[in-house]
Amino acid sequence: MKPEEIMALDKQYVLHTYARAPFVLERGEGVRLYDTEGRSYLDFVSGIAVNALGYGDPDVLQAINQQAARMIHVSNFYVTQPQAELAKMLVERSFADKVFFCNSGAEANEAAIKFARRWAQTHFGPGKTDFLGFSGAFHGRTMGSLALTPRPHYQDPFLPLMPGAKFATYNDLASAEQLLDDHTCAVIVEPLQGEGGINPATPEFLQGLRRLCDERGCLLIFDEVQCGLGRTGTLWAHEPYGVAPDLMTLAKPLAGGLPMGATLVAKAVADCVQPGDHASTFAGSPLVASVARVVLQKIASPEFLAHVRWAGEYLGGALAELQRKHNHITAVRGRGLIWGIETDLDVSPMIEAGYERGLITCKAGPNIVRLVPPLVVQQADLDQAIVILDQVFGLA
Ligand SMILES: *Cc1c(COP(=O)(O)O)cnc(C)c1O
Repeated sequence: MKPEEIMALDKQYVLHTYARAPFVLERGEGVRLYDTEGRSYLDFVSGIAVNALGYGDPDVLQAINQQAARMIHVSNFYVTQPQAELAKMLVERSFADKVFFCNSGAEANEAAIKFARRWAQTHFGPGKTDFLGFSGAFHGRTMGSLALTPRPHYQDPFLPLMPGAKFATYNDLASAEQLLDDHTCAVIVEPLQGEGGINPATPEFLQGLRRLCDERGCLLIFDEVQCGLGRTGTLWAHEPYGVAPDLMTLAKPLAGGLPMGATLVAKAVADCVQPGDHASTFAGSPLVASVARVVLQKIASPEFLAHVRWAGEYLGGALAELQRKHNHITAVRGRGLIWGIETDLDVSPMIEAGYERGLITCKAGPNIVRLVPPLVVQQADLDQAIVILDQVFGLA
């Protein structure tokens, strides 16, 4: 089929909830994607920070093939080895004591919302049901996670959402302190905001939130759906801050591109959750869990994380140089392999110009170009991306 025919089908039959790129993708290899006309693109989106190992990782493929032949899905009525082992691996590498599996980032946050309320109800009775979130946050598009994503454009057509959501200013501890009260059961925060414009939390902010939550008797939830699992150069984005949450949500890269989310919980929360409190038909299937075992094993290795830190320093240095060269770049922010180039322009034309030169990037807000390449990206790939970005900003 010709690309125009495929795009016509998409236009006619797929519900229009996305603005699509003007090409049809056919296959990927390493850090590159190929469209139906054989054009190649350096992929600095990675399926939105999902494809940490790039395309065609042989160990991921082997896990898929072996497990698919054996048993894809059985439901959570039954115990399977891949899921049990994956839970152990996540617990051993984190603050957590137990893991709940689900199928996406939004679902992981919905589970965190329910477990936080369950904890509060167990210990304090009814009434302690509110959540404190932050400006610029993104936690998903379902009714609970959307209620904690303070963007009128996303929320307004779908009101009313989950009640009891309050918002303080990101990186402003005093604003959080003012809003926290006896009705708050949990604070939810991204240690590094992704969709909101690649904003890292300050140490004082994250450490202060931990202290506030302890003082006021509420839970701290870290949403590491985008920034977790090696993206920032440490396995968890919160590691360098020296604070641990009570719950943490994961998804995007967890199962190598297959849909999987996870809500990690400390014992105090786990102890309040009873059989029947929450469930999912598909979650943690032997297939996705087998792949996630491979992904986690690889990403958590010290050599792999050292590579991400090295690549991040290198890319950050090159982006700082780009900023000195181009007046329209007002800031570059990031850590590891998640970076935002903030401009004083709408970046859509620059992203289109990148496509024409073989580079795929995306936005994080209207004026920020987001770079989230596969974590296996090499120096030559980073150099090529910088050359193209330099050309693209030269047009502005
Ligand atoms: C993408 C994202 C989500 C939502 O994940 P979905 O899998 O799209 O539901 C939640 N939180 C953060 C920080 C994200 O980046």
